[in-house]
Amino acid sequence: MPQKTKKPAAKGNNLLRWMAFVCLLLLCCMGIASLVSPETSIEEVPLSDVIARANDPNGNIAKITAEGSNLKITLKGEENYSQISRKDTSGTLYDQGLVDRCANLAGEELANCQNSFPIIEYVEASNFWDYALDIAIIVIPVIIIILFFSSMMRQAQSMNNQSMGFGKAKAKLYGPDKKKVLFKDVAGNEAAKQDLTEIVDFLKEPKKYEKLGARIPRGVLLAGEPGTGKTLMARAVAGEASVPFFSISGSEFAEMFVGVGASRVRDLFSKAKKNAPSIIFIDEIDAVAHKRDARGGAGREDEQTLNQILVEMDGFDNDSGVIVIAATNRVDMLDKALLRPGRFDRHINVTLPERKDRLEILNVHFKNKPMEKDVDLDSLAAKTAGSSGADLANIANEAAITAAREGHKEITNGDLTEAFERVAIGPERKSKVMNDHERHVTAYHEAGHAIVGHVLPDSDPVHKVTIIPRGRTGGVTWFLPPEDRSYKSIFELKDILARAMGGRIAEKLIFGDDAVTTGASSDLKNVAELSKEMIVEEGMGKQTRNLVFPEGDTGYYTISAGKPYSEKTAELIDQEVKVLSDEAAVRAEAVLKANKSILDKLAEALLKHETLEEKELAPILKDAKLPASAKLH
Ligand code: ADP
Ligand code: MG
Ligand code: ZN
Repeated sequence: MPQKTKKPAAKGNNLLRWMAFVCLLLLCCMGIASLVSPETSIEEVPLSDVIARANDPNGNIAKITAEGSNLKITLKGEENYSQISRKDTSGTLYDQGLVDRCANLAGEELANCQNSFPIIEYVEASNFWDYALDIAIIVIPVIIIILFFSSMMRQAQSMNNQSMGFGKAKAKLYGPDKKKVLFKDVAGNEAAKQDLTEIVDFLKEPKKYEKLGARIPRGVLLAGEPGTGKTLMARAVAGEASVPFFSISGSEFAEMFVGVGASRVRDLFSKAKKNAPSIIFIDEIDAVAHKRDARGGAGREDEQTLNQILVEMDGFDNDSGVIVIAATNRVDMLDKALLRPGRFDRHINVTLPERKDRLEILNVHFKNKPMEKDVDLDSLAAKTAGSSGADLANIANEAAITAAREGHKEITNGDLTEAFERVAIGPERKSKVMNDHERHVTAYHEAGHAIVGHVLPDSDPVHKVTIIPRGRTGGVTWFLPPEDRSYKSIFELKDILARAMGGRIAEKLIFGDDAVTTGASSDLKNVAELSKEMIVEEGMGKQTRNLVFPEGDTGYYTISAGKPYSEKTAELIDQEVKVLSDEAAVRAEAVLKANKSILDKLAEALLKHETLEEKELAPILKDAKLPASAKLH
């Protein structure tokens, strides 16, 4: 999956923000310090009182520190000053003799003198620090406020600059200097490419279409699952069309300050109009254009952005020569207003690739990778039903990495298989040691899957069984989907449920009813999910045949969708789900009981060889039979 790249904010902004933060922190510290400091208990006393006490041998003053006009008075028996006073302005304030009273004494006499009369200490005046705290408390908040506002202004300004200036614009203009993507780099999806080629043609030769009275589409929506190549296809449009191409991603709007999203849209459209004929591409439009929430409030900012997109699209003249292409993974979540005529009224579905498309995509991604002659991309294409283009690109990359790691000069079939299994399930964990018992349990578990899958008539053929741990699994049984099918029958689905149960049932038959292990948790989860789907979405329940139970809208901001059906119906659904999984367990048990000797044989072979491929499986499985009780039709 493409990673979202978040542009770093301008350095200056960061610095400003840091400074503001540090100031705030300082302020807090100072506030706390002033709260706890002893100064709170300091008392101001009149100068006359200080002089009187200082001249009295029995007075309680130990030391007077004179700092400019400030006097800090430390009392006898105390460590810190606890009183302050101020000299008056006339200058000779208090008895100067005090200072010298002990000057000519020494030894015991000096000590006595010092004990009875205060020591007088002159310190360089430091008025500034006396008042620093007072000043700071007033000045720092002002500084912070100024810094905060200036950083905000700068940010807003730099954003404006970015969307104004051509080169710096976040909306990228794919020019000839960028690495061009062409339609030939997009494998498969012929229909979608055809539609897009037409769009490019509209822009190149508008006259041809106008003459025939055709209205040029304004908005084209590319819809499809993640990784199916929507972004790639839009880039190919840019590469093919010799017109300016402005691209922006919906998620980029999310980074913006209030109100900037809408103004960004305005700028983008006005730029595109100025450069018409041109193309605007809004990737991941669902990030801003999800259904507007009836409750209001949340998502206001996105709403403004979305509204602005709608306003701009409505404002197009018929001959504006700007076409807006948007891509989304979630058409169901888009605001209906976007899909109205005159807006994104052309839909192009980008689908998961079929087998021949997968082969083409693999060819594209293996094109520049050295491979051994006998490398079989076709069988990889066969194994990867349900994979997206991005998955296949990922496998190609993993294969190259595996080959390099293994020290191969060229990619081998083995590298390919390893890459596929690694992407599908996770890396092999040869280092994980299983003890003998665990290996036994795993061997019977996988053998159970394999036999049930092999015997049931509507299941896909077994392709490979292994008890080498991979990813989080102890072992894997691979079934090969023979061809892509756009729908599945209830028989196929029930066979999938039964073969998923096969693992645990085999364990149960061999090791006893109570020796359940945790090895089947993901099988059971799959059974639960698939059977729920069959009931809720496909209307395959016995009592609920042809009834479906949609869960209702779940938009971005819907807090809780709730069930749009009664508790009673919920119970019925639960019952039906249980009926399906119970039936699957019964059928799996019937198959495995009828083929007990084959189960033993297969498990033994697995313990011996660890991995069995089709050709090694065939002789073991050839005599397996389907018991009548497991038959559905
Ligand atoms: P989407 O935008 O639909 O999520 P992307 O266009 O980002 O998917 O596809 C991700 C990657 O997958 C692409 O960069 C490309 O390498 C690969 N890919 C996807 N579809 C195809 C395709 N039809 N042909 C070739 N490569 C593809
Ligand atoms: Mg994309
Ligand atoms: Zn299993």
